[in-house]
Amino acid sequence: MGSKHSTWNPRRIAQTPVADRIEANIERIPGFGCWVWVGKVKAQGYGAISIGNKDYAVHRLMYEREVGPIPSGFFVCHRCDVRECVNPHHLFVGTAADNNKDMDVKGRRRSVGLRGEANSSCRLSESTVRAIIADKLSGMKNVDIADRYGLKRTQISDTLCQPNRWMWLKREMGFK
Ligand SMILES: [Zn+2]
Repeated sequence: MGSKHSTWNPRRIAQTPVADRIEANIERIPGFGCWVWVGKVKAQGYGAISIGNKDYAVHRLMYEREVGPIPSGFFVCHRCDVRECVNPHHLFVGTAADNNKDMDVKGRRRSVGLRGEANSSCRLSESTVRAIIADKLSGMKNVDIADRYGLKRTQISDTLCQPNRWMWLKREMGFK
């Protein structure tokens, strides 16, 4: 029973309680599919959790837990444009440029309540558009693609059908 025999294991201590603490601070938004972090938020607007004496960005933890390691020098960005969202399915690994776009979009949007109409004017990041085109090329329907990224169907059709949008990328990817 003494500390000599304790089964203290940094991995276990780091995993189980943290997972519970994360779960307790998530509010799932029906329809949007966003998991909005309602715990501590850092100045940059990202949800944060203290482990030991250090704060970690919750969306990065969630991405690593559910999707995989984040390559060094890359950022975890939001497809859904909700900065507080920690749903790993709404996250993607992007470059600094993607992350800046992510931050820009978030700077104009204060909460999940501003989604909906406001969202239709938001610019999609290149990686999101790439993913959308790849989905379309694989035969997915617009409505399913929209669901997948938490977007409106019109955003998908605008992105894919308006000839002046992302023309270079469509050409590069062999999308008519
Ligand atoms: Zn989201």
